[in-house]
Amino acid sequence: MERKRCEILSVGTELLLGDTLNTNAHFLAKGLSNLGLDVYFQMVVGDNPQRLKEAMQKALERSHFLLVSGGLGPTQDDLTKEIAAEVFGKKMVMHEESLRELKRFYELNHRVMPKSNEKQAMMPQGARVLQNPQGTAPGCILEDGKGRAVILMPGPPRELQPMFENLVVPFLRPYSAVVLVSRNVRVVGLGESTMAEMLNDLIQEGVNPTVAPYARSGEAYVRITARAKNEEEGSALTQPMVDEVLSRLGAHAYGVDVENVESCVVDLLKKSKMRVSFADCGTGALALSRLSAVPDAAGFLAPGFSAQTCDDLKAALGMTQPLGSPEETTTALAKTVQRKTGADIGLALVVREGNYACAVTFMDDTTTAGGRYVQSRDAAYTKTVAVNAAFDLLRKRLMQYLK
Ligand code: ATP
Repeated sequence: MERKRCEILSVGTELLLGDTLNTNAHFLAKGLSNLGLDVYFQMVVGDNPQRLKEAMQKALERSHFLLVSGGLGPTQDDLTKEIAAEVFGKKMVMHEESLRELKRFYELNHRVMPKSNEKQAMMPQGARVLQNPQGTAPGCILEDGKGRAVILMPGPPRELQPMFENLVVPFLRPYSAVVLVSRNVRVVGLGESTMAEMLNDLIQEGVNPTVAPYARSGEAYVRITARAKNEEEGSALTQPMVDEVLSRLGAHAYGVDVENVESCVVDLLKKSKMRVSFADCGTGALALSRLSAVPDAAGFLAPGFSAQTCDDLKAALGMTQPLGSPEETTTALAKTVQRKTGADIGLALVVREGNYACAVTFMDDTTTAGGRYVQSRDAAYTKTVAVNAAFDLLRKRLMQYLK
């Protein structure tokens, strides 16, 4: 079978003006590469009928499947379907089932459907309609019968993503020659380059699977990717490499295919049935904010204290003793916040002038402390690294407790 080429076309003037980040192209590119389909081009056009038509024609000259996002709405400048119909020489016709769905959507939301919205149920004749339970604009797949197709999806990512996963992937899967199976080993407390040194031979020599180091938001991770005939073969190819990477990175690896270090911390808090309280200085309560964003975290968070200076934090906690070295300071803060709030664990984090220090106190009065200088001029980055380190300290202490 000839290898199928895909192309991504993102429609919207707001994308061209830089008002909206083109996350749909990123999402679709990743999805297509996971399917083992080739993507050689991506385009962005504004809501302009002539340029949109030219872009579609150009794309269909060189690619088999054109995935388009945006411009399916009810307004005058939402013209994607009409232009696609023109390019394929089709008429626009009312799709009765979509019209019923649209009316039902409005009824369920206790709203009256504006007449202009009926336009969203008009489809190019012969198109395969893609229902959109998340919104009002259905998508569609329009084929020319000669191996070319244009796939139209709505712009809002929360509508596009499930439509792609649930309806477009099954359409494309038969054309996919291979699947790419990726596993991500998440790492904290190690820079990307140190990590790469520890895995150097695997990175250099890995063919299938490949091993690649990445850095993101003050963390590093390793992606292990295999090309395979199916998911099972891909998993079998990646697993021995995942095990090797985990054994080399030891305690620095906090999970495989997990969301972030805070979700690991919440998992461990659940297992140990403990509540943590924060005394946080100089980060704007970032640790608490990140932890509280993890689903189910609320039950494991005791009240906390946050301030911009250590003096204010001390005063809020009713501490009178002078503060010493960064380690002594965070130890005293962690102990005090744990006792004051009656939490099982006190966690203190102080970030000042590019340095951070953190400490974790358990109810048995044992304290572990850590900290370092972060080589960065970016204050937000320093805070992120400091919070990661505080979570890592807590994670390691919880694992020790649960052993
Ligand atoms: P609607 O019915 O909401 O009008 P639509 O299919 O017409 O849907 P657009 O009007 O093009 O979509 O975009 C709606 C919103 O979706 C945009 O304001 C933007 O927030 C988001 N959006 C559109 N395209 C993208 C994209 N490529 N990446 C990320 N977000 C996007």
